[in-house]
Amino acid sequence: MSATSTIEWTDATWNPVRGCTKISPGCKHCYAETFAERFRGVPGHPYEQGFDLRLVPEKLAEPLKWSSPKTVFVNSMSDLFQDSVPDAYVEQVVHVMQMASWHTFQVLTKRADRLKNMLAAKLSSAASLDHIWWGVSVEDRKYGIPRIKALQEAPAAVRFLSIEPLLEDVGKLDLTGIQWVIVGGESGAGARPIDPAWVKSIRAQCERAYVPFFFKQWGGVRKSEAGRLLDGQTYDDMPDRTIHVVRSKSDRLMMINEVEQWPKPARIGFQATMQSKLTA
Ligand code: SF4
Repeated sequence: MSATSTIEWTDATWNPVRGCTKISPGCKHCYAETFAERFRGVPGHPYEQGFDLRLVPEKLAEPLKWSSPKTVFVNSMSDLFQDSVPDAYVEQVVHVMQMASWHTFQVLTKRADRLKNMLAAKLSSAASLDHIWWGVSVEDRKYGIPRIKALQEAPAAVRFLSIEPLLEDVGKLDLTGIQWVIVGGESGAGARPIDPAWVKSIRAQCERAYVPFFFKQWGGVRKSEAGRLLDGQTYDDMPDRTIHVVRSKSDRLMMINEVEQWPKPARIGFQATMQSKLTA
């Protein structure tokens, strides 16, 4: 977990899961994989196992230790709803978000069907909470548009789209029930190009639908040079955050203690890694 983040649309990141598997073209140059694989084999490093999936239950209580309210990007280095993360562990992660209600949690996934199904069932008590925002990644029409539909069908109080890396003109979007749209181009080595016309089309649709629009970056190989101005201005709109009271220190200590007593998940990360090695 990082108490600060360089990601433009959040304050902090929290990673009770590490590692992921690629699922669609937006994953091709996954920044999390590039970062994690740099440390594979480094003894004691959080990413000693590279980008292999790993649950990190010792990180579960961390948002409860932050006394000042933050926006928190959940699993910036993974995807909470990937198949190999057991339901029981997803429930524990979400339960912490429910407890730490003074923060605003931003949960972003490419596994929109599992998000929808769990919000309608095992996570239903969290679905209506306004301090947990549920989002899906949209990189193109083929994979992204069905995710938007699944998100719209999910019983979430706050829904958002992260249209990044924007890989093509996504066309006319149905923004019904969507409270926030983030757009960005791909960055880093081999970044696929973005067309300003695609971004302007999304901006115009957000303006017509009164949906807050956040333009994160143009991206490219040197993203700092490309910047994030669109027609000479920055776009940093976000939904209004609901301010909930920060719980007292003694309350927080009690909650931390409770979380630390929860049953620990099996070492599924290790098992998943072995499984993939055995079936490769
Ligand atoms: S879903 Fe996200 S974290 Fe997982 S591989 Fe794709 S881009 Fe990376």
